[in-house]
Amino acid sequence: IRASFSVIQKDDGPVNGVITVLHDITEQEQIERERREFVSNVSHELRTPLTTMRSYLEALQDGAMSDEQLAPKFLNVTQQETERMIRLVTDLLQLSKMDNKDYNLNFQKVNLRELIHQVIDRFEMSKNEKITFEKYIYDKPLPVRVDRDKIIQVLDNIISNALKYSPDGGKVIFTMNKEGNSVHISIKDEGVGIPKQNLTKIFDRFYRVDKARSREIGGTGLGLAIAKEVVNAHNGEIWAESEYGKGTTIHVKLPTHQTREESA
Ligand code: ADP
Repeated sequence: IRASFSVIQKDDGPVNGVITVLHDITEQEQIERERREFVSNVSHELRTPLTTMRSYLEALQDGAMSDEQLAPKFLNVTQQETERMIRLVTDLLQLSKMDNKDYNLNFQKVNLRELIHQVIDRFEMSKNEKITFEKYIYDKPLPVRVDRDKIIQVLDNIISNALKYSPDGGKVIFTMNKEGNSVHISIKDEGVGIPKQNLTKIFDRFYRVDKARSREIGGTGLGLAIAKEVVNAHNGEIWAESEYGKGTTIHVKLPTHQTREESA
């Protein structure tokens, strides 16, 4: 419900009353509003790299092209912006596929313990040496039925955030445990953290705590939204815990048995 208030007052005279209008925002309206917001966000996100590219291309045309120092720098910027747009469009396509009702996950039997080690090892090879990894991974095989590629993507998105927002010398701690009929994975970092009031919003499409900073480090603002869609489709849960300035932990819980689609 949305409330709006109008004060009844003649010129500077006494306040005679207040009119309160309560609007019942129906679910349909809410969906419609979210859709409009989404389209506006997408347009903005695409426009930003395009306008940057236009100004660098104009500068090249206006003479920077024959400047041996400037030309490669400017071309580099346009290339980075192109890469960003490709990432953005790839993420958007993926979300749009997942929004589609007839979208199917490709369930297969996967040993989660092996899978998480593979993903962590890949990051270990390419990460900044100043960040260290610590692992507390369930030490028996953990067979589950999941869409392997999609779960890899969820882990990729969470781990790359942990690395992006970690300071030099920071630690990233991976934990995986079996809890009843679920697997609980958590990825903890010692990075900038997230203010309490934003903790649930970070799973919304295009939501970023610090827009400028996220763009600077190449984020699309869609990584966690995709992770949430995938985890939900597996009938799992994803949530964040954080202490601002101290670090963040992203938790994922996946059922070891049934998934919504399979049970349906
Ligand atoms: P982005 O591409 O901006 O990283 P995400 O959907 O992956 O988009 O994350 C949304 C926002 O959540 C980020 O912009 C950032 O503000 C916040 N966030 C996500 N992970 C972390 C983390 N590990 N530490 C601090 N902030 C984070």
